[in-house]
Amino acid sequence: MRPAPVLAGPTIRCLAALALVCAALVASAGARAADVIAIAARVEASAVETRLVFTLSAPVEARAFSIDRPDRIVLDLPAVNFQIPADARAAGGLVASMRYGLFAADRSRVVIELAGPARVVALATEPRDDGAHLLALTLAPVEAVAFAQAVSADAAGFRAASLRPAIEPAPADGDDRPTIVIDPGHGGIDPGAVARGGVHEADVVLEFARHLRRRLEESGRFRVLMTREEDVFVALTERVAFARRAGADLFVSIHADSLSSAPQVSGLTVYTNADEASDRASATLAARENQADALAGLVTEEARGEIADILRDLTERETRGYSHVFATTLVGGMESVARLNKNPHRQAAFVVLRAYDVPSVLVELGYLSSRRDIALLTSDGWRERATAAMADAMERFFAPRLADRAEYRAAVSP
Ligand SMILES: [Zn+2]
Repeated sequence: MRPAPVLAGPTIRCLAALALVCAALVASAGARAADVIAIAARVEASAVETRLVFTLSAPVEARAFSIDRPDRIVLDLPAVNFQIPADARAAGGLVASMRYGLFAADRSRVVIELAGPARVVALATEPRDDGAHLLALTLAPVEAVAFAQAVSADAAGFRAASLRPAIEPAPADGDDRPTIVIDPGHGGIDPGAVARGGVHEADVVLEFARHLRRRLEESGRFRVLMTREEDVFVALTERVAFARRAGADLFVSIHADSLSSAPQVSGLTVYTNADEASDRASATLAARENQADALAGLVTEEARGEIADILRDLTERETRGYSHVFATTLVGGMESVARLNKNPHRQAAFVVLRAYDVPSVLVELGYLSSRRDIALLTSDGWRERATAAMADAMERFFAPRLADRAEYRAAVSP
């Protein structure tokens, strides 16, 4: 198991101007150690060009790529700890919107959605008198044809820059307890839903997942793994591959999305995979979730081949059966502790639920678009009760298998 991220305190070079930020960083448990801290971002737009300027604690090497569908500029950077206030997310001129965060353990990415086709005129870091460094990207408008040319010139480099090492599950080493993979949704450059008060889905679900893992590990009956243990981006297909490589017996993806089209929807919902969605809201939700990789600037390839394989089909059918059983068990178990959605078990085609041989569910703990849900999701008491109920549901789901193991143990022990 990967050790919990530890702050390498002395390596953080606290500049006078950044002292407050550094103090806040050291205080926030679980924050990631990155040498470079970004404390501000601003956009300066004129009729001829748009400058996007980040204020950093140290100079960095940056590379820019043009990508399309939608038109974007991607900046690749070494690991940067973005401590930019949520309400100060810069936009204006050619910058329609942007997102930033960890893209891999040691790399950060800024994805800039363009308001129109643009080219990179300059990209440079320069020192400021107070010891901070400015990273400035200058964009100028171009014709669509010129932008398309830049995209194809950058394509190979961008593809190479987007390759990431696979995340490896800790080996089982003869541990034959049922393996549960907990998948905290989103992370890093993909914050997930952002509630009005600045609460990020990625943080809410990571905190929940950590509590759930602790509870399951305390019982001693399960091997528990997580697809991410910090605020880092993990591609949807990597999450599925991780569960399969880990030999997972159950995969539980944790989310707390926002349904702006349906603010009346609230309460906990458990989703299982199906080609046909059970309802329109579920289809919309799955389509949006499935966008996560593309939004982070990943080039996604349709991974699912139409392989006619009878054994695989049989396995998939059996797996879906188990997923349903667990979903029903979970809904029953959560009834007493959580406010359930009025249709608490729904179906849709989520990429993250596509492991054909691992029973998988996606749990929306609640919706950050619902004020009532936000209050619950961020309360310690609710998290304690909800993780306890979820762990109980897992115990019930695995009860037959755990009983077999106990019998086997009793028979072989002297
Ligand atoms: Zn989500």
